[in-house]
Amino acid sequence: MNPIQRLEEHVIAQIAAGEVVERPASVVKELIENALDAQATYIQVDIERGGQQLIRISDDGHGIPSHEMPLAIARHATSKLRTADDLYRIATLGFRGEALSSVVAVSKTTITTRHRTESIGTQLRIEAGNVTHHREVGAPAGTVITVENLFYNMPVRLKFLKTENTEKRQIMNIVTQYAMAYPDVRFVLVQDNREVFRSSGSGQLADVVVKVFGLAQFKQMIEVRGQDNLDGLTSTIHIEGYISEPNLDRKDRNRIILFVNGRAIQDSTLTYAITQAYHNLLPKGRYPLALLMIQVPPEFVDVNVHPTKAEVRFRDANTTFIALQRVIRHALMNLDQQNMPRFNQESRRPQAGGWALPSVNDGDDLPLEALDEWGNATSATPTDPTAIPTGLGRPERPRTLPPLRIVGQVGASYIVAEGPAGLYLIDQHTAHMRVLYQQLLDERDGQGIQWHEIESRTINFSQKEARTIETIIDALAQAGIQIEPFGTTAFVVRTVPVILSEQFVEDAIASLLDEWMRQNTNAEPLDLTLLIIARYSAYRSGRILKQDEMAQLVQNLERCPSPQTSPDDRPTLIHISADQLADEFKRPPT
Ligand code: ADP
Ligand code: MG
Repeated sequence: MNPIQRLEEHVIAQIAAGEVVERPASVVKELIENALDAQATYIQVDIERGGQQLIRISDDGHGIPSHEMPLAIARHATSKLRTADDLYRIATLGFRGEALSSVVAVSKTTITTRHRTESIGTQLRIEAGNVTHHREVGAPAGTVITVENLFYNMPVRLKFLKTENTEKRQIMNIVTQYAMAYPDVRFVLVQDNREVFRSSGSGQLADVVVKVFGLAQFKQMIEVRGQDNLDGLTSTIHIEGYISEPNLDRKDRNRIILFVNGRAIQDSTLTYAITQAYHNLLPKGRYPLALLMIQVPPEFVDVNVHPTKAEVRFRDANTTFIALQRVIRHALMNLDQQNMPRFNQESRRPQAGGWALPSVNDGDDLPLEALDEWGNATSATPTDPTAIPTGLGRPERPRTLPPLRIVGQVGASYIVAEGPAGLYLIDQHTAHMRVLYQQLLDERDGQGIQWHEIESRTINFSQKEARTIETIIDALAQAGIQIEPFGTTAFVVRTVPVILSEQFVEDAIASLLDEWMRQNTNAEPLDLTLLIIARYSAYRSGRILKQDEMAQLVQNLERCPSPQTSPDDRPTLIHISADQLADEFKRPPT
């Protein structure tokens, strides 16, 4: 073992540089951020050989005062942060004073700059962190930074660099992202002497989006805009941007682009919020396109959690998630509801939950109070779906069957049980249906049907079915299936009763419609709905039950008011008395 020693300064610098500057694209990112922080209105990026040979960023920002030049390239030297407290309200893209020092430590860099207030410019040449030239030059106000031979002194890093094309694509992504985040700044990207991107700096986000996504795709995108309160009344989150219509999608999430306070970020949770809002609008494995600018007060986001500042931490992550999802859903719903008959809002509220639906036509900005209510939407209390309420404090229901002993299961469909008066053959499906129906009735008469939110899913119906749904939408809501119109014949399901597996919700609704439309019932809509929910939640025939599942089922059946029939009037059990058995076997009477 070697003795402990302090690392030499240039080694420390290289290690630190390696974190900030992973690849050519990260140099481009850092230098663009510096130009933006310097209030540039024009930023040109020149690249040769994917940035490995040359990266040059020219800006017309305020420039660096000549006496500050040595400091600009020193580690932890910044004009943007003074106290540790400032870290909690960062309004600039840079703040650590690490980028320039890192870049110059791993390349041959030339910085030419003139501060707005000075008449003569400065040029500095740095190779692997050592200043080789420092002179005065004539230069326009602004800064030009040329980075050559990146990683030339870090052979290992060099070896692991991605291909030139990958790097080019990545640099293109970064430039276009910042062009979108700063539509009033003109960006130009030149690769190997060929101009490959230019934004107008018109200040119109749409102009840049057309440039980046192309006109054809832009035409299939919807503008979104919304806001919400972050803490009580004082702070606000603003969201705006563009999202794809459901007929435009991609095989990956690469076109989901997020900015927080003008900073491009990666955030898997927020990306999930977006893809989830499209749930069932897109085929499996396809993803939407989105470009969303999130603005929150600087103190609501911690940008100091990641070496390249690519990830941030929200102080109110939940609200951010919900606000984002709501803005998108709202836009998607408006899209589909333009020719739709309006429904009475009241009638679409689920009984059990007490949260409001977004209204069909809110105008462009989302009402704050609706967002709050949406935020509280997750408060339903899921219960164990298989547990029959034995009644906390409620007297146990009287027995309707004698206590039965489970003997076993036959044909994965019937339970064989023995009682004092003989043999019981129980149909697991109809018996379970009876038990679950009773549970639903108890819930209905108690706190209401227990439901929970699901990833919203869209179901398409025929015209006739859609009109039928409108007539029973209330009953469905009371039964815990919150379904809302999503176009003329499509509906979105947002909640299901706790006992109903999500996978059967479509079947259950279809079956309900079927019975309802054939008018072969005079049941109350809610009763019929509960019956069908029970049917779809009940153990199917062919399911092998565990001993305790059988025991639980039979125990519950023993206390159902009508244990011998299912709610749709089929037998749940066959009882063969001891006498009958004896008869069958022609036993001599005892
Ligand atoms: P940070 O951006 O975190 O402050 P950097 O190492 O990126 O750290 O830059 C160090 C300092 O150099 C900045 O704080 C800024 O004052 C100055 N600087 C860097 N690039 C530019 C530029 N393009 N225009 C004006 N000033 C710049
Ligand atoms: Mg910087």
